[in-house]
Amino acid sequence: MAYIVFDDNCINIEQGHYIPHSCRSGICQTCLMQATDGEVPAAAQAGLKNTLVSQGYFLACCCKPETPLHVITAPDKNIRHAVNVISHDLLNAHVLRLRLERPDNFDYHPGQFLTVWKEDTVGRSYSLASVPGIDNYLELHIRRMPNGKVSNWLHDDIDVDDVLHVQAATGNCFYTPDAPEQKMILAGTGTGLSPIIGIVRDALQQQHRGEIHLVHGAMKTDDLYLHQTLQDLDQRHNQFFYHTNVLHADEDHPLYDAMSLDQKLLHIGEDLTDCRIFLCGDPNLVNSLKKTMFMAGASMKNIYADPFIAAYD
Ligand SMILES: Cc1cc2nc3c(=O)[nH]c(=O)nc-3n(C[C@H](O)[C@H](O)[C@H](O)COP(=O)(O)OP(=O)(O)OC[C@H]3O[C@@H](n4cnc5c(N)ncnc54)[C@H](O)[C@@H]3O)c2cc1C
Repeated sequence: MAYIVFDDNCINIEQGHYIPHSCRSGICQTCLMQATDGEVPAAAQAGLKNTLVSQGYFLACCCKPETPLHVITAPDKNIRHAVNVISHDLLNAHVLRLRLERPDNFDYHPGQFLTVWKEDTVGRSYSLASVPGIDNYLELHIRRMPNGKVSNWLHDDIDVDDVLHVQAATGNCFYTPDAPEQKMILAGTGTGLSPIIGIVRDALQQQHRGEIHLVHGAMKTDDLYLHQTLQDLDQRHNQFFYHTNVLHADEDHPLYDAMSLDQKLLHIGEDLTDCRIFLCGDPNLVNSLKKTMFMAGASMKNIYADPFIAAYD
């Protein structure tokens, strides 16, 4: 047990303790800890499942306690799972598709993200493209980042039958079947496709009847992936429409698109007042698209955004 005092960034701990962390924004839950005595500020438990809150779990990166707080690092057995790698293959030159065994009682919604741990202390979030009820595995799409600690390790050093440690899924970017006629627009850049393809397949599985538009943004045509799979899905479902948005292609290329991603979303959306919107991938782009969609009439309560914020460590 440790007696802790947090500094302004809420990461330092007296007595030299180190807390694993990643986004430092209360999103990834990599810094989950458990209080054993003292009062946990409500802000440090925002977004946590009730089952975790009731056991005193909290996010260290958002915790500014007013009185001393006694804590332990979160016991692994409650939140981490050891899983086998089932498949490991490339979707394009930079994107790895990793399929992992799904542990018993591992509940999630497609579009949420889990944490993959490297050596117990370095954790990174990856979004779930798989769909419970259709897929009996967990599917992740991992882009190789230049000098990236975890993405390069997953690409180069991990293979089928290896064991990975993952932390339970979290996040609010997923489909709910409360408005089955509502128009939906989903845009992802790069591996932002991972959550949105999961959300689309989930919505179709749950008989969503309104139009569903998926737009995959990429720098070059080679950066697109699962292109044929998405074209097939488009053919099979009348309410589903697959669009690409490639920034750099020759003007005579079939995938050439003169519109920027925000122009394309506004064009598809027409009237955004009752449109549900999902935006995932590059943080700058996601935040600017969110603003554009809001300014064009979309309601904030209908915009779900998952910016892939880089880790701080
Ligand atoms: C909610 C959430 C969901 C995510 N889902 C996915 C996913 O499905 N697929 C996926 O590939 N990634 C996803 N990410 C990003 C992922 O968590 C890691 O940040 C990414 O894999 C890089 O980790 P790394 O250890 O390889 O690189 P690091 O060692 O952390 O970083 C290496 C270098 O790359 C830079 N960098 C890292 N990430 C970014 C970025 N996003 N943009 C620009 N520069 C960056 C760093 O600043 C550093 O200079 C998600 C992130 C979040 C927060």
